[in-house]
Amino acid sequence: MKRTCENRMTCHFPAISENEGLARSLVTAFCALPDPTTGELADLRCAVSEAVTNAVVHGYRGRTDGTVYISAKLYSDRTVCVVVRDRGCGIADIEEARMPLFTTDGSGERSGMGFAVMEAFCDRVQVRSALGKGTTVILEKRLSGTRDE
Ligand code: ATP
Ligand code: MG
Repeated sequence: MKRTCENRMTCHFPAISENEGLARSLVTAFCALPDPTTGELADLRCAVSEAVTNAVVHGYRGRTDGTVYISAKLYSDRTVCVVVRDRGCGIADIEEARMPLFTTDGSGERSGMGFAVMEAFCDRVQVRSALGKGTTVILEKRLSGTRDE
């Protein structure tokens, strides 16, 4: 049976690190509606946090005039889909960027594990990017049945 979209949300905000917490809270509130387990909610929070941090840190390279766009959908099969998009610098080689421990950060602050975390905590992670145009990360996670089932 074809799944239908039961709820959706879109938002956008300035690409500043202070808004990473805002993004986490918004997505947490949205994803809490279908009553996920605590673990599922924590997984989604963490994955979204990594994607938004990447948009702020790498996409806009610390520029504060950029915008991060988030949309989320809940489907009838209990799949949550969260899309995090920036209009920043883009990724030259997506396959390389997704490899664990790969980072372009020279400061020593980053470990190159953001995409690996997203993959570990979601069922599916898609990345689309174009140099000079920006990056879109699509995170999908299927929630288990309701907790009192
Ligand atoms: P960590 O997430 O562990 O702090 P990291 O951000 O470098 O380190 P990943 O999140 O796995 O590691 O990202 C790998 C690399 O992909 C980044 O170093 C960066 O070069 C590139 N990248 C990721 N997201 C974006 C983005 N939105 N725009 C441009 N480049 C990106
Ligand atoms: Mg990262």
